[in-house]
Amino acid sequence: MPERKKAGVLGATGSVGQKFILLLADHPEFELYRLGASERSAGKPYVSAVKWRQTATIPSVARNIIVSPCASGEFQECDVVFSGLDADVAGDIEKDFFENGLAVISNAKNYRRAPTVPLVVPLINSSHLDVIARRLQAARAQNQGKHGFIICNSNCSTAGLVVPLGVLINKFGDISAVTVTTMQAISGGGFSPGVPGFDILDNVVPYISGEEEKLEWETKKILGSVGDDDSFTLKSGMAVSAQCNRVAVTDGHLECVSIKFASEIKPTVEEVKAALREYKCEAQILKCYSAPKQCIYVLEEEDRPQPRLDRDRDNGYAVSVGRIREDPVFDFKFLVLSHNTVIGAAGAGILIAETLLGRGLL
Ligand code: NAP
Repeated sequence: MPERKKAGVLGATGSVGQKFILLLADHPEFELYRLGASERSAGKPYVSAVKWRQTATIPSVARNIIVSPCASGEFQECDVVFSGLDADVAGDIEKDFFENGLAVISNAKNYRRAPTVPLVVPLINSSHLDVIARRLQAARAQNQGKHGFIICNSNCSTAGLVVPLGVLINKFGDISAVTVTTMQAISGGGFSPGVPGFDILDNVVPYISGEEEKLEWETKKILGSVGDDDSFTLKSGMAVSAQCNRVAVTDGHLECVSIKFASEIKPTVEEVKAALREYKCEAQILKCYSAPKQCIYVLEEEDRPQPRLDRDRDNGYAVSVGRIREDPVFDFKFLVLSHNTVIGAAGAGILIAETLLGRGLL
């Protein structure tokens, strides 16, 4: 049995950070080695620093780890560092880490738009990791020491949408127009301060700051291409229009999607369903530990997917698509559901790391 890779988690006390702790606690390839959070938490055992809000209890392996300040010197022994940092502080902290030779996989928005940083939803565009592979090979060929890098995973509402879109584009050709209306869980707003109970109970909040812009832009980078100079080109000819709502659900983002294909020759509803069902991602092919059994569950029940019933399919690493039907304005409409703190956040980071490991890059 090879030795497990040492993993660090930044923002370990937050909503995404707690999910990292749960998903990494018994991981056969990664060992929870360092936990970082703010000065408020640093120096305390994790169990005293964290306000634990998961239904499972705090894993014993994490309880007595002393929380470190988020400084790269504290994490030098880590083979990979997962970041669930608040965006207000992630920019400077993550820069310190990757400039000092560390492999960083981030949930924060700060570097998603950087022209040379891969923005990866591991179920659909792990090919963008080729950029990192080429950089690491070049560094190794020149006998450079530790070579730091950063990979971002997407905004949580983008993660579910791009999986069926990417599969359908690859199978049937370009999509010219997408509209998406989201119903997003409160855990997506984080814990500090989080979405106030008074605002969300008996209510829907039809605005999430910055979310629509992220969903519209990130979709185009993720489904775009990589040039010879390792820069990313946004998917062209695809208009994306998003409307985002916060609803009184704890976990799981549900999205109503309509799509129009660029070509006049359209697939049938049955062909769309078959393409989604048959799809396999790289993590499945590499037999990564956390890879879902099925990337996309196509549900036939007329009232599914539902957050409470479907978000935990394959431990939250799969997405569910339902109510696929023809659209009188566009070509097709359907619902997509994804677990926002698993495949929309911490789980995506872990699956990216497992894919890098499967390719021999960590
Ligand atoms: P959160 O619950 O508010 O957690 C924020 C974390 O950042 C906490 O661990 C906090 O530590 C730490 N932190 C705050 N200020 C710090 C500082 N000055 N130095 C070091 N650490 C500091 O937020 P979240 O929902 O987990 O989100 C984390 C990141 O992931 C955000 O960038 C968010 O946009 C992104 N994201 C979230 C989701 C989701 O579904 N929640 C999905 C995708 C992406 P203390 O406890 O010590 O204050």
